[in-house]
Amino acid sequence: MGRQFPKAARRWGDLQSELAGLHETDADWRDGRVPLYVFHAGDDVAQVAKDAYLDYFSENGLGGAAFPGLQKLECAIVDASLALLNAPQNATGTLTSGGTESIFLAVKTARDHAAAKRSGVTGAPEIVLPRTAHPAFDKAAHYQGLKTVRVEPAGPAYRADVGAMEQAITERTILIVSSAPAFPHGAIDPIADLGRLAERRGIPLHVDACVGGFLVPFARMNGEPIGEFDFAVPGVASMSADIHKYGYAAKGASLVLYRDADYAAHQAFVFDDWHRGLYRTKTFTGTRAGGAIAAAWAVMNYLGEDGYRRAAREVVDVRRKLQSAIEETDGLHLIGKPELGIIAYGADDFDINAVGDQLAKKGWYVGRLSEPKGLHLMLNPVHAGSMDRYISDLREAVDIVRREDVHSVTAATY
Ligand SMILES: *Cc1c(COP(=O)(O)O)cnc(C)c1O
Repeated sequence: MGRQFPKAARRWGDLQSELAGLHETDADWRDGRVPLYVFHAGDDVAQVAKDAYLDYFSENGLGGAAFPGLQKLECAIVDASLALLNAPQNATGTLTSGGTESIFLAVKTARDHAAAKRSGVTGAPEIVLPRTAHPAFDKAAHYQGLKTVRVEPAGPAYRADVGAMEQAITERTILIVSSAPAFPHGAIDPIADLGRLAERRGIPLHVDACVGGFLVPFARMNGEPIGEFDFAVPGVASMSADIHKYGYAAKGASLVLYRDADYAAHQAFVFDDWHRGLYRTKTFTGTRAGGAIAAAWAVMNYLGEDGYRRAAREVVDVRRKLQSAIEETDGLHLIGKPELGIIAYGADDFDINAVGDQLAKKGWYVGRLSEPKGLHLMLNPVHAGSMDRYISDLREAVDIVRREDVHSVTAATY
């Protein structure tokens, strides 16, 4: 087939059928068969997000003066999130398109803050982070001429090794990173300890709460034994929190938040040398989908604290259910110490990736951990309806792999 731009206009009905047809080969997240990518707290919540998105479908977040309503929504989202995450009075933040953009901006702000404050330091500025931290930090560093120094985590829970991270700090270190939780093993780093380290060394600490920003606070309210992880820890300078993950908003909504507005001022980009006047943006993106902003605001207010606490309970309950099943299944073991919705498990004496292949054959989309080898899930309320079936398929898969001694050639990819 040659490349061709559509010539004749086609009827929307035909296009709609073609779109529906393409869905047929998609992984079935509605049936709880996808362990990442989609976060679903109920059809009613999704409908609120869709309706709000369509209400602001055409408006552009870049045009704050033209669409002051969008600006008000953004301020309301940022203020609510700063309150949730125990930020002090002088704190501020920006709504972004996703976790990667939030992290990109937190890194950019740290870089430019350091450049303004320090002199006489040569060589690329460095970010010290646990090896469990998200690749978005390396992506940001790659784009911005920085270097990352990844430090092996410590112990069976795969939490950041505070002593080893301190060893990795040099005069070029501009940012220390922690996760709440990190994606691979679901570990929440010892953020209070890292906060003390950051304060002692005068280096900002970032907490990547892309996963936990709208999950940890409500799990704690529900009584889960998780320590302080947010701006309540004095050394925490910035945080990233995805509203399009456990905030259950439409995709395209995340936050970068700062303890101090003067520090945050380094985030902006300003340009004036062209023929259309001053261009000043705080985000990486220019045009921003108004729908994503409206949907984030609507879902946040539709659920409220009660709704998020209910969702957090469902997430922790469904993870506990799978955790118990793994602990009770001969030959399987947990990897790390699951606390929220992320769980990974491995096999004692057979190929866990072959178990993954069997699950894939049974229609499950399979997430895989590379170190150590394991299967990986980030559970949300949609999995409550599929967990019994997953567990029985998992037991069958284990039986097949043990009986037939099959091996897999499948590698872990994100
Ligand atoms: C998802 C995720 C990110 C990146 O977020 P995107 O929305 O995919 O850009 C960053 N950190 C962690 C821990 C994540 O799980």
